[in-house]
Amino acid sequence: MLSSALTSPQADPSIADLIADRPALSMHAMDGLVLEDVPLTTIARAVGTPSWVLSAGTLRARLALLQDAFTAIGARVHYAVKANDHLAVLSLVRAAGTGADVVSQGELLRARQAGITPDHIVFSGVGKTVADLDTAIATDIAQINVESAEELDILAAVACRLGRTARIALRINPDVDAGTHAKITTGRADNKFGIGLQDAAGLYAHASALPGVEPVGLALHIGSQIAAMAPYRDAYTRVAELVRGLRASGHVVRRLDCGGGLGIRYRDEVAGSPIAFATTIRQAFGTMGLELIIEPGRWLIGPAGLLLASVVLTKTTGQRQFLVLDAAMNDLLRPSLYDAWHGIVPLSPIDAMAPVAPVDVVGPVCESGDTFARNRPLPDLPPQSQVAILDTGAYGSVMSSTYNARPLAAQVMVDGARWSVIRARQPHEALWTGESVPDWLTA
Ligand SMILES: *Cc1c(COP(=O)(O)O)cnc(C)c1O
Repeated sequence: MLSSALTSPQADPSIADLIADRPALSMHAMDGLVLEDVPLTTIARAVGTPSWVLSAGTLRARLALLQDAFTAIGARVHYAVKANDHLAVLSLVRAAGTGADVVSQGELLRARQAGITPDHIVFSGVGKTVADLDTAIATDIAQINVESAEELDILAAVACRLGRTARIALRINPDVDAGTHAKITTGRADNKFGIGLQDAAGLYAHASALPGVEPVGLALHIGSQIAAMAPYRDAYTRVAELVRGLRASGHVVRRLDCGGGLGIRYRDEVAGSPIAFATTIRQAFGTMGLELIIEPGRWLIGPAGLLLASVVLTKTTGQRQFLVLDAAMNDLLRPSLYDAWHGIVPLSPIDAMAPVAPVDVVGPVCESGDTFARNRPLPDLPPQSQVAILDTGAYGSVMSSTYNARPLAAQVMVDGARWSVIRARQPHEALWTGESVPDWLTA
């Protein structure tokens, strides 16, 4: 089971394999671990740790691969902004001609701030507020994915008040098992997402009759970190049938948003293939005359990022060896939340070649859940030495908190031999900015 990945005794890839598997990473005898053309020790020394580092070249290359595969089948790519919403990321997304899939007013405003035009923005999410809908409709974005009958009525009222007509798609919950971690599966009947297949036709008819909305099609998104094409195929078969049924009843269905969820290799998973994904979509819908959209997040940005951390100390408690880092669950939540496995690679070439022994890699936060890895084969790493936690570009920095009053880490972008800080480390004073102590409390 994926849920035991953190502790599973199966063989972990070696440090050399982790590096060899990632085209932007290399180990140099003098410079140590290098991302594109920048030694990571240079960044660690200048910016400190913990720090997020993004490879612009990796994101650009992955955007091009995905765009090529989907342009070939006439589909549009919308990047799922929630995976990493930094403006520098969104500006590379815009430059590639990729659109945005947003799930909040904040993400919509970020996408606009990065210059992504409203006709390239789709809005998803199970609980859009009136304020979210106001912004989306006033901005005249391409499409709003509606997730319930209740939301449809609220949306119609907002659109009428604004004197607009909102293009909508109904998000269908096709009730398939995406074969992924329970916390990131979204297409089962007992998940909160979407509209049940049995209710879809009735609601589509209702939407067609409502003022203020124009139903343009359907949407679905069955989960995240999906390794195989079979769950997509199952879901798309059901949705294609629904499209045919709606059309047979005289409805116009011209657009289909096929969702995201394409997985990447963190440990030994088979990474999702854009070509296979495009082929699956073409086989399901290729002859139906639909405008096709996909919404990948993780696949695009996940492999483009890493988290730099320093070793605080090593300690032995009973039988266990602990490596305590200066990064923690407040920075990277995925191991705590999803039992996610991330590669951990020393920056020093000497450390990277030293003999390994199992160690638990943890952060300093006062929670036992603040654990990045259990029984990880790593060399003996001295205090102040540094490591890179790999594949943290997606659902990394965006999920950070300041728990334990730990400031948000710095963010850096590398592009070839150039690099820049793209978000300064949060100063401690910023932790209490906006807080006030009422006069009456101390009077
Ligand atoms: C999160 C999400 C995505 C992106 O999922 P990934 O696994 O990152 O590709 C796409 N669409 C919707 C509606 C989402 O909620």
